[in-house]
Amino acid sequence: MSTAVTPKVYGWCPGALRPMMSGDGLVVRVRAPLGRLSPEQACGLAALSQAHGSGLVDISARANLQLRGIREEAHAALIAGLRDLDLLDEDAGAEARRNITLTPFWQAGDVSHQIALELAAALTEATDLTLPGKFGFAVDCGAAPVLTDTAADIRIERDQSNADGLLLRADGADTGLPVTAEAAAGEALALARWFLDQGGATEGRGRMHQLTARRAPPAAHAAPAPGATRLAPQRPGATPLGLLVALEFGQMPAHTLAKLADHGVLRLTPWRMLLVEGIDSLPPLPGLILDATDPRLRVSACTGAPGCPQARAVTRDLARDLAAAVPAGQHLHISGCAKGCACPGAAPLTLTATGNDEFSLIRNGTAADQPLKTRLSAGALRAAPELLTEGS
Ligand code: SF4
Repeated sequence: MSTAVTPKVYGWCPGALRPMMSGDGLVVRVRAPLGRLSPEQACGLAALSQAHGSGLVDISARANLQLRGIREEAHAALIAGLRDLDLLDEDAGAEARRNITLTPFWQAGDVSHQIALELAAALTEATDLTLPGKFGFAVDCGAAPVLTDTAADIRIERDQSNADGLLLRADGADTGLPVTAEAAAGEALALARWFLDQGGATEGRGRMHQLTARRAPPAAHAAPAPGATRLAPQRPGATPLGLLVALEFGQMPAHTLAKLADHGVLRLTPWRMLLVEGIDSLPPLPGLILDATDPRLRVSACTGAPGCPQARAVTRDLARDLAAAVPAGQHLHISGCAKGCACPGAAPLTLTATGNDEFSLIRNGTAADQPLKTRLSAGALRAAPELLTEGS
């Protein structure tokens, strides 16, 4: 019989200097500057993953690379390797503060590039700034925003009512502060300090949208900001900057990362995809999805058992097997517990593991929402995938 278990919420994200223990060893997250890896850095990371970890590499929902299964006793050697690759912050505080997601479509010298560099430097220097562990910044100044579905607490975007202008916005607020590119980083830090002054953080936790739900942003943030519109999902394929390739469940074997490095500079995206600069095609590689119609793009699944200690069941094998049964335009999220790491928002279809080989089905909700059906076994779902959609 299943028992209700409240998943543990850590309230912080792992880094390289402050890794997180998981069921398969340490999770070490690397915040590549500007979300970009040179071929040497990508090859070096692949080698470190194989030498010190499980040889599996994730891409996070904030466009960071995550080395899994790192052995505790190998952490110091891994850190030395990351330092040699120029992928290490000065200390754990600087690493935690430098939580910036940059539009993957930035171009050298453009406004997004300039602001991201200045913001990273300002956050590194702001040693007195102690923000909640998950507090982050989005720099998204292309002609149209691409990060509105990506979690961030402070956003710097193109002003949609003035194409030459920029708007700094507290997440959740419908007004913002017009800023110049030169002033944007400084104003972003001022807004972070306002968040702290207003009591936005309690015991190291708290998000901007929670504060703006109960308090108006600073008075100077008076310019109207367009409401967040849901973006069409990014798909694998050619872009003006290079080729977007998806990773099955946001994960790939380290040798795929090394192979990709043969083809060019890599940009990390928050969509569980990589952008390989300067190419428009790739040969198939393990763990990569190159076809925009691949059914695996219609499923997401967290690490599940046995990699996550909180997981109640294996998730990804089931997601692979059910992918073809998910109708076009729908999405199936399979979660190892009610925390819903792989898809924190609502999904059309969600299966939440509630026990060993027991899943609850939720429609148009999150992994923690009220289920429509309970105690579905993986075998029953595989035998009759119409259980997912019947009666809807
Ligand atoms: S949702 Fe998945 S990865 Fe997240 S804590 Fe639960 S089992 Fe672990």
